[in-house]
Amino acid sequence: MLVIGKKAIAMIAGIVICGVAAGICAGIYASDADASDMPTIVIDAGHGGVDAGVYGVNTKIKESDINLAIAKELKGRFANAGFECVMTRSTAAGLYGNTSKGFKMRDMQKRRQIIEDCAADMVISVHQNTCPLPSRRGSHVFYDAESDGSKQLAEHIQNSLNGLSGGVESNTSLTGDYYMLKCTTAPSVIVECGFLSNAEDEKLLSDGGYRAEIANAIFKGAIMFLS
Ligand SMILES: [Zn+2]
Repeated sequence: MLVIGKKAIAMIAGIVICGVAAGICAGIYASDADASDMPTIVIDAGHGGVDAGVYGVNTKIKESDINLAIAKELKGRFANAGFECVMTRSTAAGLYGNTSKGFKMRDMQKRRQIIEDCAADMVISVHQNTCPLPSRRGSHVFYDAESDGSKQLAEHIQNSLNGLSGGVESNTSLTGDYYMLKCTTAPSVIVECGFLSNAEDEKLLSDGGYRAEIANAIFKGAIMFLS
């Protein structure tokens, strides 16, 4: 159930829309709001441990490391704005315990348990994409076709990411039949921030400044959805 302090969200949204550096300023304004009104946001850094996800085409940089870096940036923004934040993982390790048979499913089930335990109001999973076609670029936000809330959240985040500088392509949000999109009835999205199979996207995603821009765009999109 999404219970939002409208006054709080409106204040934060106003700051974001005005283009002020949200990470610094939103926290000041959010202090006026009732903290209990603020939604709980689960930020899920995909993969981890022996499951690196996909690798950069030139540098072999691990998707799992990029996911974690962006997830931490995102958490900082939500936390500064006064939201309750839960990260499914905050280290390089996976959530599977050990690598015996079925570790991938155990990893996913643990993520679901975290989402259920904190009664998440929103779930944002961070991933990086790959494609056999090396020219494919840019972000794609995925949502479950059965969830209107997830669709709206995905569209807001996609629009925000499409406005990024850096030469990435404008894409549309897409439906996806993924486990992480079905862990809760709360709005849930998977943000594929870029293609590690594309050399230009790989270079951008390897840069801390660009990852901060990505986090800003995701945060902005989520605030627009909430407002
Ligand atoms: Zn992934």
